Formats: sequence, C-alpha cells, structure tokens
Amino acid sequence: MSNSQVRTRFAPSPTGYMHVGNLRTALYAYLLAKSHNGKFILRIEDTDQERYVEGAIDVIYKTLAETGLKHDEGPDIGGDYGPYIQSERKHIYKEYAEKLVELGGAYYCFCDKERLEQLRQQQEAANVAHKYDGYCSRLSKEEIEARLKSGIPYVIRQKIPNDGVTTFKDEVFGTISVENSTLDDNILLKSDGLPTYNFANVVDDHLMGITHVIRGSEYLSSTPKYNLLYEAFGWEIPTYIHCPPVMKSATKKLSKREGDASYEDFIAKGYLKEAILNYIALLGWSPGDDREIFTLEELVEAFDIKGISKSPAIFDIQKLDWLNGEYIRKLSLDEFHEKALPYYKKAISNPNIDLYKISKLLHTRTVKFSDIPAMLDFIDVLPEYGPELYIHKKMKTNPENSLENLKAALPVLEELDNWTEESLHNTLFSLIEKLGVKNGQVLWPIRVALSGKESTPGGGIELADLLGKEESIKRIKKGIELLEIK
Ligand code: GLU
Repeated sequence: MSNSQVRTRFAPSPTGYMHVGNLRTALYAYLLAKSHNGKFILRIEDTDQERYVEGAIDVIYKTLAETGLKHDEGPDIGGDYGPYIQSERKHIYKEYAEKLVELGGAYYCFCDKERLEQLRQQQEAANVAHKYDGYCSRLSKEEIEARLKSGIPYVIRQKIPNDGVTTFKDEVFGTISVENSTLDDNILLKSDGLPTYNFANVVDDHLMGITHVIRGSEYLSSTPKYNLLYEAFGWEIPTYIHCPPVMKSATKKLSKREGDASYEDFIAKGYLKEAILNYIALLGWSPGDDREIFTLEELVEAFDIKGISKSPAIFDIQKLDWLNGEYIRKLSLDEFHEKALPYYKKAISNPNIDLYKISKLLHTRTVKFSDIPAMLDFIDVLPEYGPELYIHKKMKTNPENSLENLKAALPVLEELDNWTEESLHNTLFSLIEKLGVKNGQVLWPIRVALSGKESTPGGGIELADLLGKEESIKRIKKGIELLEIK
C-alpha cells in the first residue's frame, strides 16, 4: 500500500437494479476507504449504451443514499476528478488510446470484418482458441500512415507481449500468473472512437487516483490485461481485491426472476435496510471474532480486507431473517408501528380494530414486515376451520373439553361490560379457578374460536381484546356450534 490517501470506487454499470453482490462491493469499497480516512468515489460505467436502462442511475443514487454509503465524489456531487460518468469522458479514452500507441502498448488495426471472420473460421477448423493474429501489429510505420491518411476505418488494439508471463497479486486470491501467449490483443478503442469496457475502466481508475480496486471475482481473468495496460503506460498498479461471488447455493446463482437477487427485492419483502446491509457485510467477510450485529460505523471500525474469504458466499436467508428480527426489535414501538401500518392495511379493513394493539403484539414476533398480512388474516373474517384445531396435546385440550369450557366461558363473557385486556384476564382466570382446569384448557379453545388458527399473534385474552366484545361472542358461539355438530 502506498502512502497516498486511500481512494476506492464503486463503478456500477447502470442495469436498473442493485444486485446483492454489487451492493456488497460498494459496501466493502466504502468500508475500506472510510477505515483509512480515505475517499469513496462513485463512477458510472455506461460505455455499453445498448444496455442503457431508463432511470437506472437513479436506482444507484437511491440505494447508496438509503444504505448510508455516502460517496465523496460522483456525478451528482462532482469532485476534482470528474466527469464521473464514462459517457461524458469519451474524448479522454481516445486520447489515451493514441498515447498508448505512441508508447508501444497498442497499435492501429485496419482488419475488416471479412478478414476477421476468415481468421475465426481458420482457427475453428484448426481447433485452436480464437485470438487476433497480430497482423496489423507488424505493419510498418509507412503502411500505417498511408492507411490512416486514406481514411480506412481502424480500431486500436492492446499489444500483448508474445511470450513471458504476467503475474499479479490479489489481496484475496493471492498471486496469479498467466502466460501472455494465452491473452488476446483485445480492442481498446472501437472504430466509432468509443472505448471498450476494460480500457475505460483502467484509464479511469488511474486518472481518478484509485488506490484499491474492489470488485467481483468475475474480473479476475481480465486483470492480467489490466496490469499490462498499467505497465505500458508506466502507471502505478492499484491494490486488487476481488470478492467471491454470492450464490444461492453451491451451484445456483441468485436470480432476479425469483426475486432474491437485488437490494430492492429484499426491501419489497419487508426487510429493513440496516439488516440487509449488516447481512451483506457478512457475506464472505468475517470480523475475526463472533460479532454479527454491526451498525455502519461499527463496520468501518471492524473492517479489514484480511477478513474477506475466497470461497463463494452462500446467501443464507435464515440468517438474514434472524438479523432482521433483531433489527425490528431495536425499533421503538412507535417506529415499528409506522413501518407496519402499510402491511396492516393489506390485511385489515375493519375500522374498529385498534392497530396499535397489534403492534404491541407483533413487535417482538415479526421476522419481516411482509409476513404480517398472513399473521392477521383472521381479523376481518374468521377462516373456515375444523374441530381438530381444538386438539392440543400440551394444553390437554380436545373437542370435548373445549366444548365444555367454551360453553362455560360464553355467559361469563357475555356478562362482562368493561371489555379490557385486564378485565378479560381477571374474568377468565377466575373462571379457570372455579372450573379447576388448566389455564390452557380455557384459553386455547378461546384462541381457536376467535381466530380459526393454530398460530396467532397473542393468545385468547389478547385476541378477545383486539376483536371486541360483539365479534368475540359471535365467534365463540360459532365455535360451540361447530363442536356440537361434531
Ligand atoms: N462496471 C462493473 C460492474 O458493474 C464493475 C467493474 C469494476 O468494478 O471494475 O460490474
């Protein structure tokens, strides 16, 4: 590492969504910069105009802002090394490609489509890897001048040494060596004067003073060529940190179609952004101790690239669920209520229900907000259910004693005027005492009668309080009817 200030960058291509792996790259780049009091730069890599997606850059700004990964320089806020959008830097790439020709690291290539196609066919027939044969690198100065003068279209290709080995060090994957003979003289500048992706990336990393390049390991195989470019220009090579992929399982990728690949997918499922970010930090990185819950500031403190693992990270949804639950419990009841409200509205239309009471019940039981509607699906309408729901081994209930106890509870509840959680509690517990039965033998049947479900947020007393007297009595009567028919 050089003594200069650490400068990292997040260099997304605007795809229209923020893949979990990309957000992790952004996070690690942010953490590395901030843990060294350095700068975190945002650069938009939009050289591939064909893939342009409307509004895609806004998705990037929005995600970074929401997750708190605040960049110090970028297209929206400027900086000393701009512009920070590659489509606004076209003139720069051309200039540097020409400079590289002068330095001997690149050459003009005038081969037309037909020749390249012929070459491809020959190589295919000979069963050798497809690679440009370097024909134009052998043209004389005069031949090149003449072709340029007569306006023959050209590209600029990287001049890869014919032999030798290129070696580079990656902080995660170690030292990697590649035979130069396996590398192709790739195009750096296309015939329309626009750069290819790899070239623009290297020029920008250098011009923007990037000291540490953090990106996905899919770029490892391009890195030798990047290195040769840096060397040909005489530029300092940055520290490389390639991160392993994030996978659904050992063989399956996260999939956008299945809704488990992007930050937005998880927000839509009702995960908290803090939990998502915390979880993503742990995808392939470990703090070296057993801590798992981190604020962004704590991550800055703890982050060290030595903790990045080189094996693929498997996305563990159960762990994300657990973390999300932890973050939900850290919210105040009011904060929880505010975030839960839209989900209550999906399940409940009855205006008499006190939704704040639901928040009290759900705050400690919610794993993610999108689970909420299904937990409340019995409130507007009692679901159909069968007598077997009244069987509960541990509570020692069955349809017979449930019928008896519901029948005993009905008149007591009908008489109760002051319908509050407290009075319901007192009334039902004195009934339990009078009957000489176990608590659950009264409370379980009430819970089932009120909800038609086995699992509910809260027990019989809380549900009766929530539903109110009229609805509760109606449902208990229905339960009695159902058990009598049987
Ligand atoms: N633009 C690339 C991407 O979105 C990132 C390349 C890099 O970080 O070097 O995958």
